Amino acid sequence: MTRQVYNFGAGPAMLPAPVMQQIQEDFLNFQGMGISLIELSHRSKEFEAVINNCDELIRELANLPENYKILYTHGGAQMQFAGVPLNLMGLKPAHKAVYSETGNFSKLSNKEAARYGEIVIASSSVDTNYDRIPAFTKDMIPDDASYAYITSNNTIYGTRYHDFPDTGDTPLAIDATSDIFSREVDFSKIGLMFAGMQKNLGPAGTAMVIVREDLIGHALERTPSLIDYATYDKSHSMANTINTFAVYTMGLVMQWLKDQGGIAAIEKSNEAKAAVLYDVIDQSSYYTGTAHTDHRSIMNVTFTLPNDEAAAAFLKQAGDNGLYALKGHRNVGGVRASIYNAMPIAGCEKLAEFMKEFERSQD
Ligand SMILES: *Cc1c(COP(=O)(O)O)cnc(C)c1O
Repeated sequence: MTRQVYNFGAGPAMLPAPVMQQIQEDFLNFQGMGISLIELSHRSKEFEAVINNCDELIRELANLPENYKILYTHGGAQMQFAGVPLNLMGLKPAHKAVYSETGNFSKLSNKEAARYGEIVIASSSVDTNYDRIPAFTKDMIPDDASYAYITSNNTIYGTRYHDFPDTGDTPLAIDATSDIFSREVDFSKIGLMFAGMQKNLGPAGTAMVIVREDLIGHALERTPSLIDYATYDKSHSMANTINTFAVYTMGLVMQWLKDQGGIAAIEKSNEAKAAVLYDVIDQSSYYTGTAHTDHRSIMNVTFTLPNDEAAAAFLKQAGDNGLYALKGHRNVGGVRASIYNAMPIAGCEKLAEFMKEFERSQD
């Protein structure tokens, strides 16, 4: 399958070509059964093999310790903005949680959490339009906090935590929707990590939650059973009909990731891809990177042009050249290139060449 278009959309985002090809085959005739993969019962032995395979690949790729559970939850990433507090707030009697605020999704998550407990915003970069990651250190965590929360990669602002904060005994919860499995992570230092699937894992609408098992079973009384992690844990995420297509697709993406050499290899590739674009930005006086250089994301590269007319012309011409969905989020403006795991380096190189040519044409 040759690609005419590189999709730089922030999410739903591009999937690897071999994954799409496999989906196309299985769509009409899954494993020779004569039915589509989306017609397959979630209670069938064939689907059981699909979900077990996905679990095993995640465990292997992420080097997940035994005492961590994998849940596939309904409602995308933002359902977990409620899911995290509903499940973790009850860990301590104060019903308090500490958040670092580093962007739009980060703000939405702490607003949602405030419905279920007292929220302390220990650090924030709102004053500089979230162009950086503010310090978030152990001394900022109240003793009676049930959990600490960060957004590892800020999709709109193009920033990321280079290293995760040390939160001591307080469980660290991470929204990793836009950088899960893009780099190596020591899960033993994390309480919970969740990600909506549509950026690095598969289709939209379902999230994957990786959670340390001792954090399951403390949900607040009012928690809907389909948000309670215990419900998912007890039923292998099948208390009701699971999104079979999402889990199936994610399994293919995990196999693809393994075929690429795993997470360490994809991290190297992601670093190289981002460098191709940041090099153009840094060598140019025409483009301006919007993220502080120490906190730049390797998943979302954000930059501006001298004025709105130039940005509009850039986006139009880029689209005509097969470089799709580069418009920056309205909170930042300019251009955002989302270059998740599935984006090949050739896509970044083509964009870099286009950027240089466009700059020359503006003299
Ligand atoms: C995209 C994104 C979300 C929103 O995901 P939904 O599945 O639409 O709820 C949340 N957090 C981060 C960091 C994201 O990038």
